Amino acid sequence: MLNLAQIKDYAHRAGFDLCGVTPSLNLTTEGEFLKQWIDHGFSSTLGYMERNIDKRADITRLVEGAKSVIVCGVAYKNEFSNGYSDDCRQKIASYALNRDYHKSIKQMLKQLLNNLKELDKSVSGRVFTDSAPVFEKRYAVEAGLGWIGRQSLLVTPQFGTFVLLGVAIINQECDSYDSPLQGVGCGNCHRCIDACPNNAIIDRHIDTRLCISRATIEQTDDNSLPLHGWIFGCDACQSCCPYNHCAPMATNPHFTPLFNPLDIDWQKIDEAEFSLRFAPTPLSRSSLRRIRENVE
Ligand code: SF4
Ligand code: SF4
Repeated sequence: MLNLAQIKDYAHRAGFDLCGVTPSLNLTTEGEFLKQWIDHGFSSTLGYMERNIDKRADITRLVEGAKSVIVCGVAYKNEFSNGYSDDCRQKIASYALNRDYHKSIKQMLKQLLNNLKELDKSVSGRVFTDSAPVFEKRYAVEAGLGWIGRQSLLVTPQFGTFVLLGVAIINQECDSYDSPLQGVGCGNCHRCIDACPNNAIIDRHIDTRLCISRATIEQTDDNSLPLHGWIFGCDACQSCCPYNHCAPMATNPHFTPLFNPLDIDWQKIDEAEFSLRFAPTPLSRSSLRRIRENVE
């Protein structure tokens, strides 16, 4: 059996700002909600959301013998997270200015898991960050990291929504577990709903057909959605959130911007420069051609 405080200490040493642990849960209800969301057509081109819903609901189908879920978060707020001027035509979501978080967070989770294995040889498990069908946000709520905001993101009291999540699912129980936060939430606030330029937010769900983040990142043949100056991702429903206004800037060096989005002349750089400068960042998921189209 693992010690909760020891797990949190390892998580912080690995570079995480937040860590909570919860038992593995049967999330059949979440699976049903996800099916309804898909049936409404809200998933649009996010075909991966429709796969492996049974594994999302029951993580023992993903990791045999799963007993505990360690949910870790790292804050990434930077100078561009507060938003851009209204007339800016090359806005980039602030997480995308950093190194690709999939790689950074996976490394940090592996360090955490390796430390746990050194401590107790019977520990085994797997680590995930957006790489497998896991209800990460629901587990984050159960592990006491925050609550689900009206724009469907995890809101944490300390770091707002500018937090990236990763989970380690392990085969061992803990001596104690975290529990959901009490007495915190969005209250009467609805700023994120009001701030969405395409009215894509519906009662803690996103209609991704209208979402700029989806339209600028995922593969799509439909270029008719208004982008409101965003060329990769969209932070509009986050920069307005009062919890983000008082959140501190990121301190983990993996989550500091590698470039200034206002300095780039997208019409002047060529393919070679694009590959060289943006390969380490999430922009590598797009292409110079597509980004130029979005700018235009
Ligand atoms: S990311 Fe942008 S378009 Fe999508 S829901 Fe948030 S504000 Fe709306
Ligand atoms: S902007 Fe307001 S409603 Fe939206 S997540 Fe933040 S606190 Fe909640």
